[in-house]
Amino acid sequence: MARNRDPKCRQCRREGEKLFLKGEKCYTDRCAFERRSYPPGQHGPTGNRRLSPYGEQLRAKQKIRRIYGLLERQFRRFYAEAERRRGPTGENLLQMLEARLDSVAYRMGFGASRAEARQVVRHNGVMVNGKRVNIPSYLVKPGDVIQLTEKARAQLRVQAALKAAEERGFPEWVEVNVAEGRGVFKAYPMRQELSPTLNEQAVVELYSR
Ligand code: SF4
Repeated sequence: MARNRDPKCRQCRREGEKLFLKGEKCYTDRCAFERRSYPPGQHGPTGNRRLSPYGEQLRAKQKIRRIYGLLERQFRRFYAEAERRRGPTGENLLQMLEARLDSVAYRMGFGASRAEARQVVRHNGVMVNGKRVNIPSYLVKPGDVIQLTEKARAQLRVQAALKAAEERGFPEWVEVNVAEGRGVFKAYPMRQELSPTLNEQAVVELYSR
């Protein structure tokens, strides 16, 4: 299955923000962005370059796409579906991205990063309402129960991720029973519950050009 293989820390430096793509490392002082918070490339820090409106829209889109680990084609497909749904397209898009099974598994602490949670899903590590689902883009609905399989729960990395997520606190839209490796996707997240630095409106403007 196609996925974004670009070096993760470079992606954060390009977007000028920590995107938390590497799991626990992102929370330590080994985070590359903490040490070099300027864009990657051989010319080093070049100061604040002004972006054109198009450049800003492009960066806003790339940032969201990278956070959720999607390739352009997959992202466009999600956008088309968000546009089709009732309500504001930008908000629909973010809610759909958060409802992806790999995102939900990540928010429930089943992986230290979205990439790790995606791998747990791909390797048959989760069940949705009692049925095995190994498609990361599967859209979870409010009320769905996501359960780790016995085998996945026995993995040390999954246990470590769950413990770390519990310590940091789970988001409002999921309810997790850590001891049983199970969680409920209570509702789609509201816009104010998601990062204020995401500019979904710029994505709408970019794709409406
Ligand atoms: Fe981004 Fe820092 Fe995590 Fe690397 S370690 S992916 S720079 S947040």
